[in-house]
Amino acid sequence: MAKRIGMLGGTFDPVHIGHLRSALEVAENYALDQLLLVPNAQPPHRGAPQVSPQQRLEMVRLAVDGVDLLSVDDRELRRDKPSWSIDTLLSLRAELDKDDQLLLILGWDAFCGLPSWHRWDELLEHCHILVLQRPDADIEAPQALRDLVAAKSVSDPDALQGPNGQIAFVWQTPLAISATQIRQLLATQRCVRYLVPDAVFKYIYAHGLYQSS
Ligand code: ATP
Repeated sequence: MAKRIGMLGGTFDPVHIGHLRSALEVAENYALDQLLLVPNAQPPHRGAPQVSPQQRLEMVRLAVDGVDLLSVDDRELRRDKPSWSIDTLLSLRAELDKDDQLLLILGWDAFCGLPSWHRWDELLEHCHILVLQRPDADIEAPQALRDLVAAKSVSDPDALQGPNGQIAFVWQTPLAISATQIRQLLATQRCVRYLVPDAVFKYIYAHGLYQSS
């Protein structure tokens, strides 16, 4: 029986319930065997994060602790080069059977930026793409992506066929929460309780993270 593995990459600076609730709903609603949260080491598309990669990793670990369907994969932190998703997909693919489905999960904002990604036009050769709605991101897809969606999208994730090559949109519980918002709250001495899991909340305060602007 073919497996269904999801991958949600991100800076997770810090991980928050927008990531986690989306990940859990995708994993449960679309019968994933496992959904991997993959923290970036050196995000190619943005400046250096304020907190160390190990601290971001630790927060994701704390967030998924005890949740069987979600796990952390630190392969991008073990690589000594930029976190290109194509490399991560290839290395995950190498661990799977050829019929297994690999789902690259992207929020709408990340999906809209896809044409700037390294070897973006090869991604669908290795995975399907699942796009999460992002109520806090009002961005239009560039024409190249609209063409790709017209050619490759299916009605919903249950309609994905085969190990790779299609795009589907997910209507998970909309949570207009971003890591940027959380960093800004902390930098202005406001409380982020309930925006992040309690274990992450405690870690942030125990280590004094993000609390100076
Ligand atoms: P920042 O505000 O620092 O840019 P972020 O909150 O967008 O961070 P990332 O770690 O950059 O978080 O996001 C990782 C992935 O999770 C991306 O694909 C992003 O679109 C998605 N994502 C982030 N927040 C949400 C949310 N609230 N709902 C759905 N998807 C989300």
